[in-house]
Amino acid sequence: MRIKLDNEKCQGHGRCYALAPDLFDADDEGYAVLLVSGDVPADQEALATLAADNCPEYAITIEA
Ligand code: SF4
Repeated sequence: MRIKLDNEKCQGHGRCYALAPDLFDADDEGYAVLLVSGDVPADQEALATLAADNCPEYAITIEA
C-alpha cells in the first residue's frame, strides 16, 4: 500500500496528522506533509485508510 498526497487539494484541516501522526506531519502553515515515501508499514495501513477517509478535501488517495 502507498499513500498519495495531493498538495494542491490539501487545505490544512489537520485530520490526517491528528489521526495518523506516524504517516503525516504538518508544515509551518498546517498543510500536510507525507512522512512515508514508499510502502506503508503493515501496522499503519488501517490508519492510512482512516486518514484518507477523513480528509475533507479528498487530498489523500491510497494505492494498493
Ligand atoms: S486531512 Fe486532508 S486537507 Fe487536512 S491536512 Fe490532511 S491532507 Fe490536508
